[in-house]
Amino acid sequence: MLNKGSLFIISGPSGSGKDTVLAEVFKRCPELKFSISTITRPMREGETENGKYRFVSVEKFKEMIENDMLLEHNNFVGNYYGTPKQYVVDNLNSGFDVIVEVDVNGAKQIREKMPEATSIFICPPSFEVLKSRLSARGTDSAEAVEKRLNASLGEIKRATEYDYIVVNDKLENTVDDVVAIIKTVGLKTQKHLDFIDKIINR
Ligand code: 5GP
Repeated sequence: MLNKGSLFIISGPSGSGKDTVLAEVFKRCPELKFSISTITRPMREGETENGKYRFVSVEKFKEMIENDMLLEHNNFVGNYYGTPKQYVVDNLNSGFDVIVEVDVNGAKQIREKMPEATSIFICPPSFEVLKSRLSARGTDSAEAVEKRLNASLGEIKRATEYDYIVVNDKLENTVDDVVAIIKTVGLKTQKHLDFIDKIINR
């Protein structure tokens, strides 16, 4: 029997630097699958369809909710974000590890449905760094930055709901830490059942 893949939930507020961390984690673990979210927010400069996100209309998003196509969904600062269910379930069943990158509400919904998932919160090293990272982005208005700052602080308040908190101070160390968590999960006894079975029933 094939061992199932592991699900990793990664959250981190806007300004935590989690996108950069994740890009590096994927370079180090190329076999990991990334779940592309479906969202209704307008595309930002530099974003592409099917990069991190699939961009859809609110109507299409609501249709996906009605058809039970989303593992979780949330309205974040006025826009809808959701994780398509099929991709995650199919890959886990095929034995692949999957990373879903969601906000704290999405993480809570997934944990309730899949309690075996491992959740990791990427945290900025300080309030000052968080604020300067959000302002430096330059693609959002001052009002949008303020909204995102408040949303980020609200998320950090809920970091203790996660299995692991990784403070993103130095990128290299943060990536090492996230990769270490992923590798440790891969060493669990549960992951070696077919390996042990093969030795015994050779
Ligand atoms: P942004 O608009 O800055 O790309 O993302 C805003 C927030 O939405 C971030 O906290 C991000 O992690 C979260 N997010 C991205 N994809 C999903 C998703 O599929 N579901 C949920 N619940 N949140 C998501």
